[in-house]
Amino acid sequence: MASTGVPRTDPHASVLVVGASAAGVATAEALRRHGHVGRLTLLDGETEDPYDRPPLSKQYLAGQIGADAMVLRSTEQLAGLDAEFVLGDRAVALDVATRTVTTTSGTTRAADHVVIATGVTPRAIPGVGLDGVHVLRTRADADRLRAGLQTLQGPLLVLGNGVLGSEVAQTAASLGVDVTLAGSIRAPMSGQLGGFGSQFLAAQHEAAGIRLLGGVRAARVRGRNGRADTVEFVDGPSRAADVVVVAVGSRPTTGWLEASGLEVTDGVDCDAFGAAAPGVWAVGDVARFHHVGMGRSMRLENRTNATEMAQVVAGNVLGRRVPYTPVPYFWTDQHGTRVQVFGQMTSADRVTVVDGHPEDGRFVAVAERAGEAVGVLGWGMPKQARIASMRLRPRYVPVAASAAPALSALSALSAAPAAPAVSAPESPAPVG
Ligand SMILES: Cc1cc2nc3c(=O)[nH]c(=O)nc-3n(C[C@H](O)[C@H](O)[C@H](O)COP(=O)(O)OP(=O)(O)OC[C@H]3O[C@@H](n4cnc5c(N)ncnc54)[C@H](O)[C@@H]3O)c2cc1C
Repeated sequence: MASTGVPRTDPHASVLVVGASAAGVATAEALRRHGHVGRLTLLDGETEDPYDRPPLSKQYLAGQIGADAMVLRSTEQLAGLDAEFVLGDRAVALDVATRTVTTTSGTTRAADHVVIATGVTPRAIPGVGLDGVHVLRTRADADRLRAGLQTLQGPLLVLGNGVLGSEVAQTAASLGVDVTLAGSIRAPMSGQLGGFGSQFLAAQHEAAGIRLLGGVRAARVRGRNGRADTVEFVDGPSRAADVVVVAVGSRPTTGWLEASGLEVTDGVDCDAFGAAAPGVWAVGDVARFHHVGMGRSMRLENRTNATEMAQVVAGNVLGRRVPYTPVPYFWTDQHGTRVQVFGQMTSADRVTVVDGHPEDGRFVAVAERAGEAVGVLGWGMPKQARIASMRLRPRYVPVAASAAPALSALSALSAAPAAPAVSAPESPAPVG
């Protein structure tokens, strides 16, 4: 990377973080922890103080918790950052050479370092915008959907049977709503849970009364008098629906970077250190980084990545050179159980239950490809799953980076007992 005089190691350098959510706030906190004393500004298009998104499809949607329980940090903690929060003003352009961000209000802000943390935006299909058609990314989205569920007379149709669609379907079902979950993959969340896990989830969904419609792609929602009326599928008959949730994936929020000259290919392209250009960095859902252990670029959309990538990149902003080499990890809560996935698994992998019993609804399974462990699936056994995930480290964490700050599996372990708590089964049961 060409030298541009960016003050890489100066703790007094100014930093502008665009996107003040999980990754943006974690970056600010890590900068301060690493000794940064310079001007720190966080800019966000939303007007509310930073809040956490995972409860939006779960406890908040179900009405079990209120907005106050979702704040990312208390007012005192935010004040303790000694940072300026500029809320309700979106970035619309970035000049990479001068690291100047222009916003919708017409303001320009220049900084020694710009950290891009603008997350993702739900993918739309024709019909999004009609009354009764919902997406779910923000608290305002969740408020609208919750109100829609409260007054719902007929069935709810959830389009997209990935993580978000599954979560919304099970939350709605828990509220007594008649739900159909329709999506392009055969079994819900098979892209994340592999064959065995997705079949297990499908059985739980069905037991909760959710109708499953796999292998169908939604084309559009047709309206009548401005309201949802019918969903048309590319490969199946239309279905009547007056309340629809569109959860067909998301795309990185990079529109504002179009004229910046930054490489953007399904996310802001970064090197192994999170750098997109001299003095320009990306973290969280929006960042596509080079994973040294995997030897390829990847983008992770999950809460743990938002925090862990921010910690590593903040150090690099201040002159460290630590590559970000996480063991991918995410959790979801479904039907009252914490489900965890370490690594990455596909339906083609061979799956072996190594602890617990699926028939009891609690188990840990390991997915293997060509004899190598590639993923660990935990169902209601958090500690055991975390410990089992240690076997993934050789695949994801290169030897040179293993001295770097512990990530994902390792940091999750810090809450677990030091001694291994997993009793190795006498004869592991292959299930897939
Ligand atoms: C409903 C829901 C449930 C989820 N459940 C789970 C879960 O169970 N487990 C899990 O691991 N992960 C879950 N996630 C994912 C997790 O919340 C995200 O990975 C995490 O929020 C990513 O953080 P981020 O800061 O990168 O992006 P975001 O949280 O999306 O934040 C991006 C911020 O940037 C702002 N922004 C965007 N564009 C601009 C702009 N041009 N100018 C200024 N500001 C801008 C946005 O307003 C937003 O505040 C869930 C997400 C959702 C939506």
